[in-house]
Amino acid sequence: MSPVPTSPARSPLARLAHAAHFAARAHKDQQRKGIDAEPYVNHCLEVCELVLIAAEPGDVEVAIAALLHDTVEDVGVTRADLVAEFGERVAELVMHVTDDKTLCKHDRKRLQIEHAPHLPRDARLIKISDKTSNLRALVRTPPVGWGPERLADYVVWAAAVVEACGPTDAVLEALFREAHAEATRAHPG
Ligand code: ZN
Repeated sequence: MSPVPTSPARSPLARLAHAAHFAARAHKDQQRKGIDAEPYVNHCLEVCELVLIAAEPGDVEVAIAALLHDTVEDVGVTRADLVAEFGERVAELVMHVTDDKTLCKHDRKRLQIEHAPHLPRDARLIKISDKTSNLRALVRTPPVGWGPERLADYVVWAAAVVEACGPTDAVLEALFREAHAEATRAHPG
């Protein structure tokens, strides 16, 4: 992707805005799988909003990582790009929630459950927020071409990943449970 111009201002809010701009540019050609085909960056913004419910006050880097959480997996941004633009901790967090695309889908899904308990709390916050956003989308605008079984499988799997994350934040967990309950009602299998 062509470089995103960097603002000379480097306050936490300026860094956050830069990350939002970076994510929007990185995902500019991508849409969500749902029938509404929403711009992909809507999901990144929602995940960031959710993460900020549970992040330590003033921890802008976890919010930045939430905005960027799908850039390595989906659009070819590299770890080195993230280090250069946003620093080591943001890159590390994004890599914690990035699947290894050399593996088959089945293994990637299994490994998300296996790895979840070993992730730092910040990465688990991103993971729970990601699954909450995805389950909400499954209800609001289900993916084109997904049959009842695939939809129900995703709902069950998302709950298994969040369960494996263990305790994190009561409010975030409650929002996940709400999204999960609605998705289960919408897609019982
Ligand atoms: Zn995501």
